[in-house]
Amino acid sequence: MSELAQLQPHVLIFPFPAQGHVNSMLKLAELLCLARINITYLVTLNFHDRLLLHTDIKSRFSKYPGFHLKTLPDGIYQGKTNTVDEVMMLYDSLRLVAKPFLRELLSSDQAQSEKSSPITSIIADGILSVALDVAEEMDVPIIYFRTISACGFWAYFCIPQLIDAGEMPFAGKDMDVTIANVTGMERLLRRRDLPSFCRVQDLGSPDFRMVLSETQKSPRAWGLIFNTFEDLEGSTLSHIRKICPNVYTIGPLHAHLKTRIQSPWTSSSNSLWEEDRSCIGWLDQQHSQTVLYVSFGSFTVVTREQLLEFWHGLVNSQVRFLWVIRPDLIPTKNDKERKSTPEELELEEVTKERGYMVGWAPQEDVLSHPAVGGFLTHSGWNSTLESVVEGVPMICWPYFADQQVNSRFVGEVWKLGLDMKDTCDRAIVEKMIRDLMVERKDEFLQRAGEMKKLARKSTEKNGSSFHNLDRLIEGIMTISIGVDHASKSC
Ligand code: UDP
Repeated sequence: MSELAQLQPHVLIFPFPAQGHVNSMLKLAELLCLARINITYLVTLNFHDRLLLHTDIKSRFSKYPGFHLKTLPDGIYQGKTNTVDEVMMLYDSLRLVAKPFLRELLSSDQAQSEKSSPITSIIADGILSVALDVAEEMDVPIIYFRTISACGFWAYFCIPQLIDAGEMPFAGKDMDVTIANVTGMERLLRRRDLPSFCRVQDLGSPDFRMVLSETQKSPRAWGLIFNTFEDLEGSTLSHIRKICPNVYTIGPLHAHLKTRIQSPWTSSSNSLWEEDRSCIGWLDQQHSQTVLYVSFGSFTVVTREQLLEFWHGLVNSQVRFLWVIRPDLIPTKNDKERKSTPEELELEEVTKERGYMVGWAPQEDVLSHPAVGGFLTHSGWNSTLESVVEGVPMICWPYFADQQVNSRFVGEVWKLGLDMKDTCDRAIVEKMIRDLMVERKDEFLQRAGEMKKLARKSTEKNGSSFHNLDRLIEGIMTISIGVDHASKSC
């Protein structure tokens, strides 16, 4: 290893190409830049262009000369990613393209030809074992960043136990059967609260095998980073530490970044869609904590019938709402399907009185707005943390992956809101909104306010996440100069 490399760690950060993954890993990249670590951040061509178009990434990162945005070669699936099959197409094409590319990138010849310092370690998305394989082959230390919750990760990790114990595949249709073999969550999880992939009947299906094997490979990494904090998930983390001792909890990352750049008001958006900021003006006109924010993240799709159930529930609740309806929220085949029905047109009229709709919102700013008093969410992990940091109670309607677990924890463990999974009925939507925003408003706001304090404390100086990021930075320095390189701690 060259002398320059010994002095200057150079980390390759490789996120899975999806909004939530890119968002949190870019925040980590900025935190490491602040510690003067050189970063190469790897994205697809498509994401590169969208980040440049919709964010201030260029000017934001211009103050870090050691930061480089690098693109993967062409050949990666660029279509829709709203179904598991589509996500699998993306995943498979990414593996194929990334393997030879990473080999090349990690070879010192490449660094010489680009006149950059060689890459001294990798932080890869915890579902990209292609990076793990190449890192081991090329003897480059690798740390995993798992962008989901620790509780979601642990439920995934325990799947082999569930299979051995005969709890999977599910026998019969009763989704309320309690699950006994996720250690530490014995009386908590029902079948319906397991990660969505556990609903398969065919344990040999490629998407299920992929999810299973990716998580099982985690202990091979030198360390494991989570965007979470000890006061929120300490008890689950104690189980994870038995299989991966070197765990770094450094979240909530967006709050942590604000502490480290000493600017509590700056939100660093990493949106892949254009944000419609007109909703902030609308929120400015609303009373404190009266608005329900509704957003289902970047992947979720709903049927037209489900959309109507939500819409009726929202309107009937009499509560004011700001709703993100992405252009692709309802997959449609043709123009005829896209046309509004008379029922929708009628709802649009009523919505004008109490609601506001946008195609994509500046979510961090929305959740921190004083007018927002609740969040109807799909329980994506970034959205959950963003809500926790602002003390906003949630109604959870999980779509897939770890979201089923997150929503159970929100409702039953942290008691920050209500879990509405597996139902979509206007009367239930209305009732839950009334409960969250009116009947039990004080109770939920109090709990959410307490958790908000703990979240913020964790990222302040001397807080657990603050301390753990310092530890991570030290770890990166150590593995980069080769001292602890061989001893795998996780
Ligand atoms: N987001 C946003 N504007 C929106 C909806 C979502 O900026 O209108 C951001 C949100 O702040 C979060 C990310 O998109 O950081 C979504 O990530 P999450 O893990 O919640 O869900 P996913 O999209 O992965 O299902």
